[in-house]
Amino acid sequence: MSLIPGEPPLSLIPTIEHRQFVPWLTAAEIDIIDEVDFGSDVMLVAHPLVDALAHPRLARKVRRGLALGLLLEPEVYLLQLPKEVRADFERETDLLLEARDGEHLDLERKRTPGELAEFSHHILDLEVRGLATALLAPAPLLRDGNATALDNALALLEVSADYFAAEGLETPADADLPFRPRQLLASLTLDVRLLREPTFLRRVLDAYVEPPQGAYGFVVQVANLSSRPVLADVRSLSEVLYNLQHRSGLPVIVARVGNLGLGYLAGGLAGYSLGNGVSELLTFPPLVYSKNSRDQKDGKKRGFSLVAFHGPLLRNLQTIGRYDTAGLRAFHRLPCPCGRHEFGKAPRHNKAKKLHGFWWRIGQARSAAGEGSVRWLRKMIDRAELESASIDGEVAFYAALRETLPEAAEVRLSA
Ligand SMILES: [Zn+2]
Repeated sequence: MSLIPGEPPLSLIPTIEHRQFVPWLTAAEIDIIDEVDFGSDVMLVAHPLVDALAHPRLARKVRRGLALGLLLEPEVYLLQLPKEVRADFERETDLLLEARDGEHLDLERKRTPGELAEFSHHILDLEVRGLATALLAPAPLLRDGNATALDNALALLEVSADYFAAEGLETPADADLPFRPRQLLASLTLDVRLLREPTFLRRVLDAYVEPPQGAYGFVVQVANLSSRPVLADVRSLSEVLYNLQHRSGLPVIVARVGNLGLGYLAGGLAGYSLGNGVSELLTFPPLVYSKNSRDQKDGKKRGFSLVAFHGPLLRNLQTIGRYDTAGLRAFHRLPCPCGRHEFGKAPRHNKAKKLHGFWWRIGQARSAAGEGSVRWLRKMIDRAELESASIDGEVAFYAALRETLPEAAEVRLSA
């Protein structure tokens, strides 16, 4: 892949040596993209595949305007929704099933090699069409210890790697951009309950640590991890992530695990990705939002209000509505210098919250990806916990964040 012998490949993907934050942007972020200062640390943006094809403005902006790399997530897990719920995601599933003339594909049951090859080729073609530089091999959500889904995931990765090589997909067709080869990433999406099944988890890990030739790294997502997760789940996830990166020697990007992501970056993982609001965490089945939903009782239009990230506290708080007390107190006591809202006050509008949020994510990632990052985060957590005690008494989140650091995981791994 390297253009000059002995030189590292030209890549816009986080690596173990060059760890990065990967902003997760949806088409809705078109309102802020021109105002975010990505600096020189951010090289890759993650984005839903359906958004890149249905509303290509943001994808074009990322590639042609900002010359950043683009990773498109095909959201294959939507095919695993019960039929009646799938109807809410018609746009996404129609796209995934386009090559099958809309015929459904159940990836939790045995499929023929031909079906899997056709599906993976179609998805990779869509990602190329959507301007992706980091191609994500399609894979189903693994849940309930379903071994057939795991077999399908591995087979999809295999045929994706074959297709990537055979079609020469590393070569971008886009001649008017500085040349950067494309890369293929393996995708591993786990339901949180699977983190409680060590035997199956070991099987998953053993299979993934030796991906097919041509796989550049991994994107790992966990469905249904809450913003205040069970400690044992976080511990188990840490073991999976650090083990996967260590044993494969390939970069691992963890996506949509909320504010725990910073801990994984500080702990040595190549990258973490998260976005605003619903894209912070992966929920399955996903939440359905209707812009026109009205409150049943008073018939008033209900706005959609994002939580605000509080940098020094390392977590989200509400800054408007009934539960805004702690948020307002936090922003008053520990004022935010981001300049996207009034100093000493909390960001209240969604646009300000997003800009404020990315300002903090990008800034904190600089420390989390630098020298002494574990020590830096430990200090941040200690301080945040202390402040938190007098703001709303939150402690559980900090215990979970500590579990993302590698030391504890390593002790158990070597045992
Ligand atoms: Zn701010």
